[in-house]
Amino acid sequence: MEARKIRLLLELRRQGISDTNVLTAIESIPREHFVDEPFLDQAYDNIALPIGSGQTISQPFIVAKMTSALELGPRMKVLEVGTGSGYQAAILSKLCRRLYSIERHQYLAEIASIRFNNLRLTNIVQKVDDGNQGWHEQAPFDRIIVTACAPTLPSKLISQLSSDGLIIFPLADISKKCQHIVKINLNSDGEIVQEKLLEVRFVPLLPGVVPNKTKI
Ligand code: SAH
Repeated sequence: MEARKIRLLLELRRQGISDTNVLTAIESIPREHFVDEPFLDQAYDNIALPIGSGQTISQPFIVAKMTSALELGPRMKVLEVGTGSGYQAAILSKLCRRLYSIERHQYLAEIASIRFNNLRLTNIVQKVDDGNQGWHEQAPFDRIIVTACAPTLPSKLISQLSSDGLIIFPLADISKKCQHIVKINLNSDGEIVQEKLLEVRFVPLLPGVVPNKTKI
């Protein structure tokens, strides 16, 4: 596993990931803890993998790219929408003060919670909810990252961003049938400024929660 991890880190560098804090965080988190048993062999391949409930753990390059784009600092309070496997959350938790992570699938949130405990990632706070609503009680956030795509950014998330905050969001362009990671911030007049970073393929941001008893 260690040799595969080193190969992945070299590949990420080759792909232009140069933020050493992000690379160190990726090095410190065992991705094999976040994939299901049949995919253990591929834990350090630079690909997305299925995690159950029809969802995926993101490709390491995309995790690295989105994390770098967030420009995190050690004192920041960060919101993640879409805990999924918990891998992106684990990486973020190494680079900020506290990470709040929301997942709509109770089943995925529970498995992620076990992983966070096993790795003693004590600065992650989770809830099972519809992330479109953000996390009102904990707002404002210095950074917000959404790991599921939608054609518009939920307005509640913008309202929960601190004045010099940043949002990283996979925005879907329905007419062009494509998605791009966008970096969003507010200028001094409070207007939304949006910058396109790269084309991606994410699962959709859906409304409501999925309790454990629901069959998928
Ligand atoms: N960050 C994850 C990526 C998971 S895929 C990882 O590193 O593994 C995106 C996740 O977003 C899925 O688990 C999906 O269930 C979740 N999701 C989709 N819509 C959501 C919503 N409205 N609120 C919270 N989570 C949502």
